[in-house]
Amino acid sequence: MAEPSIKVTFLGGLGEIGRNCAVIEQNGRLVVVDAGLMFPEPNMYGVDIILPDFRWLLERKDKVDGIVLTHGHEDHTGALQYLVRDLNVPIYGSSLTLGFARHRLSESKVGRNLEFIEVSDGERRKIGPFEVEFIPVTHSVPSAMAIAFHTSVGIVVHSGDFKLDLTPIDGRRTDVARLAALGDEGVALLLCDSTNAEEPGFTPSEKSVGGALRRLFLERPNRRMVVACFASHIHRVQQIIDVALEQNRKVALMGRSMEANVKLARKLNLLHVDSADFIDIENVGRYAPGEVCVICTGSQGEPLAALSKLSRGDARNFSVGPEDTIILSSHPIPGNEWSVGRVIDDLHRAGTEVIHSGHEPVHASGHARQGELRTVHQLLRPKNFVPVHGEYRHLRHHADLAASMGLADDHIIICEDGDQVEVTASGIRRAGQVPAGFHYIDGSAGDLDERPLEERRMLAEYGVVQISAGVDAVAGNLAHPVKVTTRGWFEGDHDRGVVEAVTAVVRDALLESLRGGERDSDALAKVAQRAAGRLLGQKYRRQPVLLVAVVVL
Ligand SMILES: [Zn+2]
Ligand SMILES: [Zn+2]
Repeated sequence: MAEPSIKVTFLGGLGEIGRNCAVIEQNGRLVVVDAGLMFPEPNMYGVDIILPDFRWLLERKDKVDGIVLTHGHEDHTGALQYLVRDLNVPIYGSSLTLGFARHRLSESKVGRNLEFIEVSDGERRKIGPFEVEFIPVTHSVPSAMAIAFHTSVGIVVHSGDFKLDLTPIDGRRTDVARLAALGDEGVALLLCDSTNAEEPGFTPSEKSVGGALRRLFLERPNRRMVVACFASHIHRVQQIIDVALEQNRKVALMGRSMEANVKLARKLNLLHVDSADFIDIENVGRYAPGEVCVICTGSQGEPLAALSKLSRGDARNFSVGPEDTIILSSHPIPGNEWSVGRVIDDLHRAGTEVIHSGHEPVHASGHARQGELRTVHQLLRPKNFVPVHGEYRHLRHHADLAASMGLADDHIIICEDGDQVEVTASGIRRAGQVPAGFHYIDGSAGDLDERPLEERRMLAEYGVVQISAGVDAVAGNLAHPVKVTTRGWFEGDHDRGVVEAVTAVVRDALLESLRGGERDSDALAKVAQRAAGRLLGQKYRRQPVLLVAVVVL
């Protein structure tokens, strides 16, 4: 009989922050951990979100026994609505995680027949070939969990996203005692959050943010306080509400997801506030500034979210001005700095005071720094380690940290998206690769592959060149002169010179081809395209999108 082994396939989240998805496999049966999305970079024109490439997984869909969700953030659950179109298996997670996921699924009108299985802290469930254990961890959303798979080669621990917050708002700490016990039982493989692996020390407790907010509020008794944060950050919302109520302010919520998440969290008893403490956003104007606190979405500069609308003055029911203080209780996710900066600028233009994490401690990360990572490595003492959830440099730093804790190099593997590893009693090895490229979603057009995106980049950078010509098939010459028009080009002398050069080179190429006997319009168009493309690329270093039409008369 073959030696027992398990395999892990990484479909996303290794090499980027986002679209987290891993698949753990034993005896040909598969369990999926998370199915997240990623937000596009500014040069991914028209792309709304990026998903893992699920083809490998869907080719094996009859072997999949379930999807387990570590927590409710979109980089872990945002791709579910696409995955479950083709994969109907039970989905496991905490009540809040499933609540967030179901809300998103119902908005996109999929998943009506799905089975959601709520799990509580410390619960063990048989899922496919594994005993799966759900371990509470602290993070920037309540009810986050690490997952322990009890497998034929030992325990595989997936940390999920976590920090070791010893004073969490809800008192629900990371279960370090259980982690230590798992360490004693024998951890064959650790997959661990690397987001803050470059940062020394310990991530401050979420509670520290409450202290900073309280001071800022106290210093501004007569100003209207508007605080933006992630709508899923229920503990942040709780602290903002608590500070506001201490000052006898009423609370107004702004932003669809803020309203929906607050409603869900109150229903699950994870957010504690009385209905009487809320007022509708359209009634804010009836109160003196010092009597109100607004909590809104849009802390990442998302153009359609509440804060951006406030900054531009196009929110329907409420506007901000010199009597407002706006606190961005957040930190820009890499890639969002520019949009956040623009929102902050516009808010200044409206005369408001703006406070952000750059100069006040109004945000704490949800991810473990080196001190916490070392603690987890020490508690679990894994035999093998693969860093997850990070850009490459984060993974590298986390691998170095594991080595510095005494793990031998051949028991640490840095994987990237698409990599597979196999773990046996004797160790870990690379086991292959599966397709794991970016799967782009354009909300208006559906799925995109690289090609249209590349064209959009060319359009953005170099514009369009349209070339047309008419050919006299009998005489073998040009019936209409070559015409070159451009879009996205400057109208200066230099660009006019380029147009003239393209016109000449296309005319010469067409005439030569006609002399050789070519009369087919597609073939002639190709000749024109090649001549223009070569000249533009080699001489002028430009790659515009070329649209060529040659009409044979
Ligand atoms: Zn995450
Ligand atoms: Zn997270």
